[in-house]
Amino acid sequence: MINNFEYFKPSQVKDVASLLKAYADNIKVLAGGTDLLVAMQEGDLAPDYIVDIKGLTDIDRIKYDKENQILRLGAATSLNDIAASKVVQKHWPLLAEAAQTVGSYQLRNRATIGGNLCNSSPAADTLAPLVALEAEVEMVGLEGSRIMKVKDFLVGPGQNRLSTGEIVTELRLPKPSGAVKGRYIKHSRRKAVDLATVGVAVIAEEGDLGYRFKVALGAVAPTPIRAYQAEKILNESELNEDIIDKAVQAAGEAIFPITDLRASKDYRLKMVKVQLRRAIEKVIDSWE
Ligand SMILES: Cc1cc2nc3c(=O)[nH]c(=O)nc-3n(C[C@H](O)[C@H](O)[C@H](O)COP(=O)(O)OP(=O)(O)OC[C@H]3O[C@@H](n4cnc5c(N)ncnc54)[C@H](O)[C@@H]3O)c2cc1C
Repeated sequence: MINNFEYFKPSQVKDVASLLKAYADNIKVLAGGTDLLVAMQEGDLAPDYIVDIKGLTDIDRIKYDKENQILRLGAATSLNDIAASKVVQKHWPLLAEAAQTVGSYQLRNRATIGGNLCNSSPAADTLAPLVALEAEVEMVGLEGSRIMKVKDFLVGPGQNRLSTGEIVTELRLPKPSGAVKGRYIKHSRRKAVDLATVGVAVIAEEGDLGYRFKVALGAVAPTPIRAYQAEKILNESELNEDIIDKAVQAAGEAIFPITDLRASKDYRLKMVKVQLRRAIEKVIDSWE
């Protein structure tokens, strides 16, 4: 049963930051609540104070910033809004695809991108795409704001670099210089409402020297990881079966899967290779 708590819904970030500073370990930020309220219902968390951030201006907005050529995603943007956004679908397609794989339609109406990030599960579906897309996260507290790469923000299962008194206000995604093809493949035990056993994010960006690949893998290490060696192999050779094979093997060497209730370590190792090959082939097919 959920404990009694005092509820705040400020309209200014500085008021959220003051509350977080004042109540430190005894307060939680509420966005969509799809992780937080489950944890409270199960008795894993029992904060005396809750601060709802959905009253903040622009916190749920998707905005393309032409001057800086970045996409600004407000932290409380719902995953359904991200999945349905034409601009996200065009330039950051694997993020739209990943958002669409989370839970159910009803859940995605509440679940936010900031919540998915701050919950920091290695299996969270938007995180491997954000790492592949070299997204940055803006954190704001009473002392000001700071910006960090998502890959550096994530420290381990449920752990990140947010300090007491800070919230995530925005995610920033650099606009690819050329045309982009991308795929996110989620491998899970069921087709719907299940966390990823393995998540594979592949992006190919058109440049002067042809397409450049970026690859990130989820649910196979304490945080989503970039498969740099696999990228190097794909980017420095003419693509053929043998090269894709080598890249997939290299990705397998970069991961540290564990055995848990969803899958064994060996199964994850096998499936990451199967799904990575599939994602690379789908990306190649889509530009031919
Ligand atoms: C039935 C079910 C199915 C699910 N399926 C999936 C799935 O397929 N894939 C997947 O990735 N996830 C899944 N989830 C997990 C969850 O829905 C997502 O992680 C979601 O994106 C969390 O967003 P939220 O806005 O609901 O976060 P909340 O629950 O509001 O918050 C999550 C955590 O982040 C903190 N937080 C939230 N926003 C901020 C912020 N802006 N700044 C600082 N801290 C913040 C909160 O304090 C809390 O600790 C599922 C959950 C349920 C209940």
